[in-house]
Amino acid sequence: MNEKAVSAMKDFLEAIGIDLAASRMENTPERVASMYEYLFNGVGMDTGDLWGELFHAEADGMVVIKDIPFYSMCEHHLVPFFGKVSIAYQPHDGMVAGFSKFTKLVERISHRPQLQERMTLQIADAITEGIGADGVLVIVDAQQLCMTMRGAVAHDSRTITSACTGCLNSDGMKKQAWIMLGMRDEEK
Ligand code: ZN
Repeated sequence: MNEKAVSAMKDFLEAIGIDLAASRMENTPERVASMYEYLFNGVGMDTGDLWGELFHAEADGMVVIKDIPFYSMCEHHLVPFFGKVSIAYQPHDGMVAGFSKFTKLVERISHRPQLQERMTLQIADAITEGIGADGVLVIVDAQQLCMTMRGAVAHDSRTITSACTGCLNSDGMKKQAWIMLGMRDEEK
């Protein structure tokens, strides 16, 4: 248990006027501290160790992993944003990574105070560097609770970000990636 975090959370809740004893919340600072420790366990973690052994696929086509769920925290308000990450990559010489590695990558990068735009780019860069992919396209489709919790104006709004590296920047391959990801033209 991180005593410093527990005592800081206790101070914080008291500072905003919550009487922990009267509200029967004596154990809340401890719970929040351990919850945040989990939510931010990707802080300071590299991603290079995630990939393990790469495999040589007989095919040399583009690989797509769609709709990996994620939960992250916006770095401005420490409020959740969450949704799905979709990845298309062009393997270098047919070298591919196991599908579960991408889920682990998304979890590690989302478990930090984040901006959706930066998270998208960090995922693309980690795949480019980690498995030497010739090109990567990452699309993140999310709901930002710090938008939707502050009034009905942005209710149900979604934020979609993308990042593209290497050969997937060429028009033909980008188009193929978008088609494999099942995105309609107007969502580009
Ligand atoms: Zn925010």
